[in-house]
Amino acid sequence: LLSGKTALVTGSTSGIGLGMARALAGSGANIVFNGFGDAGEIEQLQADVAKEFGVQTAYHNADMSKPAEIEAMIAFADDKFGGVDVLVNNAGIQYVANIEDFPTEKWDAIIAINLTSAFHTSRLVLPRMRAKNWGRIINLASTHGLVGSAQKSAYVAAKHGLIGLTKVGALETATTGVTVNAICPGFVLTPLVQKQVDARASKDGISNDAAKQALLADKQPSGEFVTPEELGALAVFLCSDAAKQVRGVAWNMDGGWVAQ
Ligand code: NAD
Repeated sequence: LLSGKTALVTGSTSGIGLGMARALAGSGANIVFNGFGDAGEIEQLQADVAKEFGVQTAYHNADMSKPAEIEAMIAFADDKFGGVDVLVNNAGIQYVANIEDFPTEKWDAIIAINLTSAFHTSRLVLPRMRAKNWGRIINLASTHGLVGSAQKSAYVAAKHGLIGLTKVGALETATTGVTVNAICPGFVLTPLVQKQVDARASKDGISNDAAKQALLADKQPSGEFVTPEELGALAVFLCSDAAKQVRGVAWNMDGGWVAQ
């Protein structure tokens, strides 16, 4: 499906981004990894994916809060692979506090990483996608791009903004072979959510398992976490020809969260 094409997945050293990278590699795409972590572990990750799926892999350490580093990363992908065909804007962080207690530097960081970075990567990859008349931009939004939750002001604002950016990108490319869509996961058990599980366990004095169940019971009717593999399969579908008229959607995969 994607052989000879290149996918850049931001924040792909962990969690959902890694699931996306593995799924796209499984469909034959070369992968440009990005994200933080131990250099040796990242090298191993690259080698493992290259070997398992028979694709080429590369890595760039751009900090997604820094536009100059994002520019360097896209130039690196262009040099190495002749352009990015599939862009997955996945890097993201969370912080939980009431608005009046929200540290302003956390607000700025969340808006920069979860929203503004997707503007920069998109503006930088679109010229080549248009020239090839093929491309896929997939923005990892969230159920929090569709509905709110208390204490997540910056995250909810950024994810609603990301869905807005998705719609505009889809309209601007509507008559081309480039599509722009968003995926909106419910709870996925990644390091980002484990922090919230830990906070719940210590606040309520309950076990790790009980805290997971409590978190799900609040929001996710299925009572089960969504997995990075399931999200990766949805991304692969969005890359397929069958999905070429799927444009500007915010597709939730959330165990029923926003059906309530
Ligand atoms: P995670 O913490 O497991 O992974 C985040 C990735 O982003 C890591 O690779 C990390 O190194 C990278 N990253 C963080 N800051 C960065 C920066 N400044 N520059 C470059 N890379 C950076 O988190 P996750 O749960 O896999 O989240 C991935 C995306 O999915 C995020 O956008 C998140 O908002 C979204 N999401 C997660 C859930 C969930 O339940 N886990 C639900 C909905 C949406």
